[in-house]
Amino acid sequence: MDGALPLTQTHVYDVIGVGFGPSNIALAIALEEEGNLDNTLFLESMAEASWHPDMAISGTDIQHNPLRDFVTPRNPQSQYGFLSYLKAQDRLLDYLNLEAPFPPRSEYLGYVKWVAEQFGDVVRYDSPVTGITREIIDGVDLFRVEANGREFLTRNVSIGTGRSANIPEVFAPHMGHRVVHLTDYLSHAKAWIEEGVKHVTVVGGSQSGVEIILDLLGRSPSLQVTSLTRSFGFKQKDLSPFTEQIYLPEFVDYFYNAPIEKQQKMTAELWRSNYGAADHDVIEHLDMIMYEQKVTGVERLTLQSNAHIETISRTPDGRLKITARDAYSEERHVQVTDAIVVATGFRNFGSGDGREAYHPLMRGLAPICEYRSDGGVDVARDYSLKFAGHAPSIPDQDPPKVFLNGLCESTHGFGDAGSFSLLWIRSTVIRDALAGQVPFAVPADFPTFETEEA
Ligand SMILES: Cc1cc2nc3c(=O)[nH]c(=O)nc-3n(C[C@H](O)[C@H](O)[C@H](O)COP(=O)(O)OP(=O)(O)OC[C@H]3O[C@@H](n4cnc5c(N)ncnc54)[C@H](O)[C@@H]3O)c2cc1C
Repeated sequence: MDGALPLTQTHVYDVIGVGFGPSNIALAIALEEEGNLDNTLFLESMAEASWHPDMAISGTDIQHNPLRDFVTPRNPQSQYGFLSYLKAQDRLLDYLNLEAPFPPRSEYLGYVKWVAEQFGDVVRYDSPVTGITREIIDGVDLFRVEANGREFLTRNVSIGTGRSANIPEVFAPHMGHRVVHLTDYLSHAKAWIEEGVKHVTVVGGSQSGVEIILDLLGRSPSLQVTSLTRSFGFKQKDLSPFTEQIYLPEFVDYFYNAPIEKQQKMTAELWRSNYGAADHDVIEHLDMIMYEQKVTGVERLTLQSNAHIETISRTPDGRLKITARDAYSEERHVQVTDAIVVATGFRNFGSGDGREAYHPLMRGLAPICEYRSDGGVDVARDYSLKFAGHAPSIPDQDPPKVFLNGLCESTHGFGDAGSFSLLWIRSTVIRDALAGQVPFAVPADFPTFETEEA
């Protein structure tokens, strides 16, 4: 989409969505269902629709029931459901014949793209948002959103950027071409092989960590791989159907209404259902590789568990030297590697290890937010940010809202950020919250700004 709106005249959107990944795609579908999409704009930093393209590893599958897609549980007849996609690709019968519990990730990436492309007229790609502020402009309470040096005005914002990458401090100074977060894996890994890299270290025991190890081993027969995990080896996900009830809408209410200490306790108990653990099939594959190494005597993969990385430094020839301490024996191991994949997940709201008070994009809003006792921003049940009493406001005017669409694992529980399973219901809740607002019209004497480039 480009230049479809009046260019030198101020335009106030009902909603600006930041990011057009699964969370905001689901919102677009929900808004369109009710005929409320017209005055909405999504700003997406990537050049085209995609879904974690740097983790589109061949041979991987998805981790949720594919019918828990953007919309099917709410509206099984939607044209944007996974089955509609399969039918449109003329692959429905082949899919039904597939002897596999989950479709490949490449197929779900195709599905996400296929849906996103149908909303092309409300999305601007290549538009990374760099700032959001709340302002009163001529008696109207609204948000100013910056992207590519342009400014957009809107009554509401839906932040659907995904959580920030969790980069433990020890890696931070080294991030770059040879030290990458998992979300930047594929494009760098391809380059490393071309550059003749001999040894790669993968940090983390999550599903993504295991997938990356397996992928690296298949990339070049001479590549050595070391895996460093903080825990005692690779854990299997807790996929009991009883645990999986956390992906039901009732669980969101149950979690949201619990006191913060109880939420933290629940989070700790449920952690392995989605984090720091991997599916049985990839663990089995890894185990077979380890056994085969014993049979053949050819060792390409080294596993180091209980490893707490203490320091990372550069050797004189530019390689990376990692010192890790075993959590129980206290022994120190030093290894020199050419590249590191930091597969340490994403940050939730809060304070302490792997958490942050708010997403970096919210820094312009941070001084007017309310915070919980754990240090993270507070969020209402409808996913809107709670603003503090000193935030700008106009008496008798319905306050504008910033919805955190896919960032609320600390307040709304498991599945809020790390799963597709609740997209259909979260988007319904946000859509209904928007529909419940007092209708807004730009006043006739509203000032004219050059908010968009000609
Ligand atoms: C490798 C991997 C595999 C996964 N597999 C599964 C799975 O099989 N099943 C499952 O249920 N969940 C899976 N997940 C969890 C997954 O994160 C969510 O299901 C889903 O992607 C979350 O969608 P989202 O839109 O909230 O965030 P994202 O998918 O991260 O999308 C955010 C979008 O916002 C854009 N963006 C970010 N910052 C800006 C900015 N400043 N300005 C503009 N645009 C911006 C990004 O480019 C991106 O398009 C997986 C996660 C990863 C990392």
